Amino acid sequence: MSDDPADLTRAIHPGRDDPHTAHIVDGNAVVGVLQDLLAGDLSMLIVECGGCHTAAPLAEWRVEADRDAFIVRCRSCTHTLWTLMRGDGGPSLLIAGSCGLRRAPEGGEPSPAG
Ligand SMILES: [Zn+2]
Repeated sequence: MSDDPADLTRAIHPGRDDPHTAHIVDGNAVVGVLQDLLAGDLSMLIVECGGCHTAAPLAEWRVEADRDAFIVRCRSCTHTLWTLMRGDGGPSLLIAGSCGLRRAPEGGEPSPAG
């Protein structure tokens, strides 16, 4: 990165098949897409384990629940995917590294292995 102030608005994403320049914006830029991701039936949200890459609808994952939290674990490798805390200030979510979330394609997702 150089000292050129113009470089503060761009980032280079190397290491891909098509390295390209991305624009640096604030978090407001992701709000609409994030709302689309989390809209509708969350039980059908596809969750992918960052450890073993098993992917399945949220409804099919193993959850350990107690009075303080829900811990969502991979049913294949037991990697912790999320911890959803029930705090006095309201719920909070900790997402483990490399855990993926996506909407199921129209017509449903093929049944996962594992
Ligand atoms: Zn896993």
